[in-house]
Amino acid sequence: MRIVLATHNPHKVAEFQQIVASTRPDLEVVGYDGPEPVEDGVTFAENALIKARAAAKHTGLPALADDSGIRVDVLGGSPGVFSAYWAGQHKDAGANLELLLDQLRDVPDPHRTAQFHSTIALVTPDGHERVVEGIWPGRLAHAPAGEGGFGYDPIFIPDGQPAGFERTVGEYTPEEKQADSHRARAFAALVPLLAEL
Ligand code: IMP
Repeated sequence: MRIVLATHNPHKVAEFQQIVASTRPDLEVVGYDGPEPVEDGVTFAENALIKARAAAKHTGLPALADDSGIRVDVLGGSPGVFSAYWAGQHKDAGANLELLLDQLRDVPDPHRTAQFHSTIALVTPDGHERVVEGIWPGRLAHAPAGEGGFGYDPIFIPDGQPAGFERTVGEYTPEEKQADSHRARAFAALVPLLAEL
């Protein structure tokens, strides 16, 4: 059974492929190189559905799409769906996280709570639609640390780490991130739904 992954983000493709391989090795994940729809939804779910519908329609295959971002509590849930271009339409990951750090410069640790969100839509060519969500709670660091991952990983400190030894996701190995991330959590919710295909 083939399933198309409606994302052009190579980091996400790699994360998806590893998780699908470990849970549903019978599924062949293929990349999507068709037209990219305008992501004009105002929620992660709307944007994930927009992307998955376009890929299912274009390829005739069941399609998966992830829409994700970081929500900072003291900013009322922003950047949220604007995470990819918080510092401007040029989608510069470094500028995005520097702006976020600057905005929170005087905010102390107890108020630096944030969550990574991943919403995955599964859409079949016959119009079957499913949406699942994964949330990874944590807080923002005061400065970037680590070279791993992408996007806001160098400034996100996941909850549940031993006090005094806390690291950002930028300091995690790919395996550590994949075991715990918002995307992995959304996948876990998706696995039972893949059985419907
Ligand atoms: P999307 O590709 O439209 O879903 O935008 C997602 C944006 O959210 C990315 O460009 C990153 O800025 C951020 N983001 C999503 N997932 C992650 C992650 O796993 N680590 C760091 N940043 C992420």
